Amino acid sequence: MSHRSLLLRLSLPLSALLLIAPVASSQSPVASRLSPDTLVLDEVAESLPSMIVVVNGNDTVMYRLLPSFASVDWGNLPPADSIYGGIWTNDRVNPYKVSIDSIKGNPVIAMTDYVFPCDSTYVTSKFGSRRNRFHYGTDLKVQIGDSIRCSWDGRVRIVGYDPRGYGYFVVIRHENGLETIYGHLSRLLVEEDERVFGGEVIALGGNTGRSTGSHLHYEMRYLGNAINPEILVNMSARSCRYDSTYTITQKGTFPYYAEMKEMQSAKWVTIKSGDTLSGLAKRYGTSVNTLCKLNKINANSIIRIGQKLRVR
Ligand SMILES: [Zn+2]
Repeated sequence: MSHRSLLLRLSLPLSALLLIAPVASSQSPVASRLSPDTLVLDEVAESLPSMIVVVNGNDTVMYRLLPSFASVDWGNLPPADSIYGGIWTNDRVNPYKVSIDSIKGNPVIAMTDYVFPCDSTYVTSKFGSRRNRFHYGTDLKVQIGDSIRCSWDGRVRIVGYDPRGYGYFVVIRHENGLETIYGHLSRLLVEEDERVFGGEVIALGGNTGRSTGSHLHYEMRYLGNAINPEILVNMSARSCRYDSTYTITQKGTFPYYAEMKEMQSAKWVTIKSGDTLSGLAKRYGTSVNTLCKLNKINANSIIRIGQKLRVR
């Protein structure tokens, strides 16, 4: 389909048509991308290198001025490189190993131009502790094939597959110092190290990895440490709670830190034949009373073979 025939089907504002008219470049990294429901036409005209026109599958058009594209010298430096100390890998989600209590000062994060990642606002699972693990993101109900959008301009750090966790997932580093993660995807539309813009469709929603029912697992991280997305984003309004900046603080940004540390030090055992509460207490240097409290049971509770008990 040529650009012209595509455009004829659209009722574009005149300004958009004028901006689209001088398209010539085929060098742009975003120009050639084609996804099932989104076609990026081109960066428009040499005089406007930061204008991008996107035609969505539902025949709506999106055209955006991207000041960051014009002002940022991408060179070989990844976004927010000074914050991340030159670390840029395409494998581990958190290669930084910066503990929350060692984050210095109160970093100020630019929140402008935020884009919500999907059409749905239905939160199916919140950020926080589970019975024996921690959920580092917010789950949003999406259908397989739904568009998943990048939250800010940035560069793709990881395009990966984690069969027992995220499924197909994408990690993007943003200029503002945050990284966002999108999991359980059915189709990936970006490549590692590629630059992307806020609102760009980077993947399609799915049900891959540890997932029952299609949904988007959406994370926000600073230096590898997860931030509850609902601190920054009003899910029902699909908008950022902060117009210009957000200041990271230990207590305000990472209120789960103590609970998470306690969970990380927890030890779980699987009950075998012959195990008793008093026997377990003795073996793990604790008391029956503590075992009962940790597992919300009482001393007379029957423990079954195969059951998991927390002993620390
Ligand atoms: Zn999740």
